Amino acid sequence: MMTPRSIEPRPCTDPGCRGGHAPAERVALAMSLCSARGAQLTELRRQILELLWKSGRPTGAYELIEALKLRDSRPVGPPTVYRALEFLMSQGLVSKIESRNAYVPCAHPERRHDCLFFICSYCGASVELEDPRLERLISEDAALIGFRPTRRVIEVEGVCANCIADGAA
Ligand SMILES: [Zn+2]
Ligand SMILES: [Zn+2]
Ligand SMILES: [Zn+2]
Repeated sequence: MMTPRSIEPRPCTDPGCRGGHAPAERVALAMSLCSARGAQLTELRRQILELLWKSGRPTGAYELIEALKLRDSRPVGPPTVYRALEFLMSQGLVSKIESRNAYVPCAHPERRHDCLFFICSYCGASVELEDPRLERLISEDAALIGFRPTRRVIEVEGVCANCIADGAA
């Protein structure tokens, strides 16, 4: 069991960061971001965020419900879980991977960025990067056609380095 309250959040300032933060630290950071914004990171919302951080790959709502069942004898229904996920997305703590109908924690909720996900079709692992060049391009292209983007998540499907090394593809 994690004890998030005893872990200090350490906001990341490296724009080229490739992740690798401890899940417990990221959950602690989410708690401090929410309390600074006056948003309620309830026990259930925090548990879901924790499960997503531990999963390491896009995780669907029903998989989350199963995992919650193991933690707590009180069953949690899909509408409750979807509402919690909506909250986590509205706070920029979680992104939805539409192509998988699954959810991943955003690596850096402490700063505004477009989430760029590379998702392995073989093992399901996802890696998030940020690229200011891509963000600029999207903004410029959107401006060209007078478009106002509301969801800026880019999903790239393929084969990860591990699976390539294992000869999966
Ligand atoms: Zn970082
Ligand atoms: Zn992100
Ligand atoms: Zn893979």
